[in-house]
Amino acid sequence: MAGTRLTVVICQAQGRNPVKRQMEEDILTSLIMEPGIDVSLVPHLYDMSNDHTGMMFLRSVPGNLLVMGWLYERATQWTLDRAGVRGHEGLTLLRSEPEEDEDFEDVEKHEARGIGSVDVPDRKLYCMDLRVSEKAQDYINEVVRISNENNVQTVDLMSFINGTPKAEQLQRYLNPERQLEARKALDSGSANVADKEVLPEDTNRRWYPVIDYSRCTNCMECIDFCLFGVYGVDALDRILVEEQDNCKKGCPACSRVCPENAIIFPQHKTPAIAGADGEVGGIKIDLSKLFGGDDGASAIEMAVLERDRELILDGREAVGMSVGLKTRERDEFDDLMDDLDSLEL
Ligand code: SF4
Ligand code: SF4
Repeated sequence: MAGTRLTVVICQAQGRNPVKRQMEEDILTSLIMEPGIDVSLVPHLYDMSNDHTGMMFLRSVPGNLLVMGWLYERATQWTLDRAGVRGHEGLTLLRSEPEEDEDFEDVEKHEARGIGSVDVPDRKLYCMDLRVSEKAQDYINEVVRISNENNVQTVDLMSFINGTPKAEQLQRYLNPERQLEARKALDSGSANVADKEVLPEDTNRRWYPVIDYSRCTNCMECIDFCLFGVYGVDALDRILVEEQDNCKKGCPACSRVCPENAIIFPQHKTPAIAGADGEVGGIKIDLSKLFGGDDGASAIEMAVLERDRELILDGREAVGMSVGLKTRERDEFDDLMDDLDSLEL
């Protein structure tokens, strides 16, 4: 029955790292053979614009969807949410572990209290991080396990497809063998016109914040803090990333200001900022790296310095602490920070 099929979409790595490409190809080749599974390749998720055919393809998938790529699961989930690709979170047993690092400290469990997503269709959405295991077989086994689990469920087909992409635009994603062949031809420099037609359009590297609405409380601190017009509000007065390409490349300033750690920069080198699991919703939090500098600067001080640097690069005046910072009331998080400070960690 069509409704029980699982669609697996592999989001390619940026660049042409041969190890990563081999992993993608091994998974794709093996899953093509699996009954009950449809598999496709799209470009790197974070780099696709809303109207890229890869994103349209993702929006057109009816039924349960599993998206794997080179990002933390949370970053994948909320980048998809931003593009209107939603579902109830599916459980994957192959997940990134919370970082075991001396900069991570145990904190009390903090329940997610965000405003949540909207228009979530009745289907499952699974996200996988391809950096969790070096073995393609581990992903294949987990996909097959999930597919078997899905076989005993039914989903309400087609009721949530957003937009009506043209079938011919999506055709390239429906023929993974041909897609793989064309990709190999491109890598070896022998791609012809027909190969190029089945490959997705190119993407450019991008940099913008992604909001995790399971944590975001709609406090609007980010919109007040950002002086580059990135944030806005939707018709329901919910915060949203409105002009994502106005964001300053490499700068994660507003993620330090968000009191809920709800702002993700999926390509940032610090796991906590890039969406690594377990810092706030779970048990661990990267205190020194996320909220302050190695030299003892506080999170807010670092954010202000980062914002000032970008203002000056834009030919504008630095504003320091004078703009967009609320004096928020102390909460248990501040108490925790003080306790940790007193322990001189
Ligand atoms: S600062 Fe964080 S919690 Fe507040 S509206 Fe922005 S993303 Fe949401
Ligand atoms: S990183 Fe800077 S420019 Fe980008 S959204 Fe945040 S505050 Fe605005």
